[in-house]
Amino acid sequence: MKLVQFLKNSKVALGIETENGIIDAAVEGARRGLRVPQTMIQAIRHGNMALEVLEKLTDGAVNFVQNPPAAPAVTGMERILCIGLNYRQHAMECGLELPERPVPFCKFSNALSAHRDTVRLDPAYREYDYEAELVVIIGRPARNVSAEDAMDYVFGYTCGNDLSTRDLQFSRGGQWLLSKTFDGFAPLGPCVVTADSLDPSDLAISSTVNGQLRQNSRTSDLIFSIPELIADLSRHFTLEPGDVIFTGTPQGVMHGWSADKKQWLKPGDRVDVTIEGIGTLTTTFC
Ligand code: ZN
Repeated sequence: MKLVQFLKNSKVALGIETENGIIDAAVEGARRGLRVPQTMIQAIRHGNMALEVLEKLTDGAVNFVQNPPAAPAVTGMERILCIGLNYRQHAMECGLELPERPVPFCKFSNALSAHRDTVRLDPAYREYDYEAELVVIIGRPARNVSAEDAMDYVFGYTCGNDLSTRDLQFSRGGQWLLSKTFDGFAPLGPCVVTADSLDPSDLAISSTVNGQLRQNSRTSDLIFSIPELIADLSRHFTLEPGDVIFTGTPQGVMHGWSADKKQWLKPGDRVDVTIEGIGTLTTTFC
């Protein structure tokens, strides 16, 4: 099942993407007298019960919305976690050895943005870069989970773009936070594919800038797999339902290009991140 968040009267609403359009879950649920989750985080927190009722709505639905403005695919989570240097060929293009353990960092919720949002680039910096990433959404509280059991804790998957300011990333004593969490720097979408509908282990992942292919890889190039990431993170703190993990980016980011060929993102540019089985997440810049 593909779930979306969209804006209705400026409020976040939950939808189900189908061949006939997006089902407005609240309106369709009310028509049938069913209690349905109103947002993605509610759907995640109610787990299988929520998924069962949403699945029911797909049969014989009459309340569709056409092309509503999108909201970020998940909102209201406690954590936006990211993993640095997690694709073999990306580590090579950066001239770095493969890490022995996952390299986590984080963003704040101000960084969330939606499919087709326009994100502002602060003119105080120059080296703006894209990073296509498969994003995992946690479905159940996870503490000290083994890699063998980790997939039982996943709610679903979406596309992310881990936007970065390279001239800030490496100039403040090694922390990456400031460079990664400008307003809008964590686009998420266009939909959440539930865990039962997608095997994330070998998906095509790509990005384009103004239609020109920049990244083109597969999630099988990940150094640390999704189960390994969940096991490692949950050994150090509790992952909560709705927490998202940006799992790292493949080769082809501008940071890895030779100095004379670099073309940093600039106002007017458009980046599309596409992952097989999920869809395409579009961000433009001003
Ligand atoms: Zn990243």
